Amino acid sequence: MSRHRSNATEPMRRCIGCMESKAKSQMYRIAMKDGNLTFDANGKEPGRGVYLCKSKECIETARKKNGLQRGFKRSFSKEITEAIFKRADEEISNAE
Ligand SMILES: [Zn+2]
Repeated sequence: MSRHRSNATEPMRRCIGCMESKAKSQMYRIAMKDGNLTFDANGKEPGRGVYLCKSKECIETARKKNGLQRGFKRSFSKEITEAIFKRADEEISNAE
């Protein structure tokens, strides 16, 4: 039997900010490959991913509690994580 997703319940993902589970489409994905983080606008980047609500509050929360480090269980330089949070911030500002 083939897997078809059209009528399937949307997968839920946990936010690295508020730690609540939400529908994947309501969230940003951040992918990690070779120790680098990519803001994954289309959800198609290879590698492990963590999710963040499309909310400035969650971005701020995740930033304060090092959500990316916790989510991926490893450390990143401040430049790398700040670039991701900044990108997420811009993404929300553009959507407004
Ligand atoms: Zn959240």
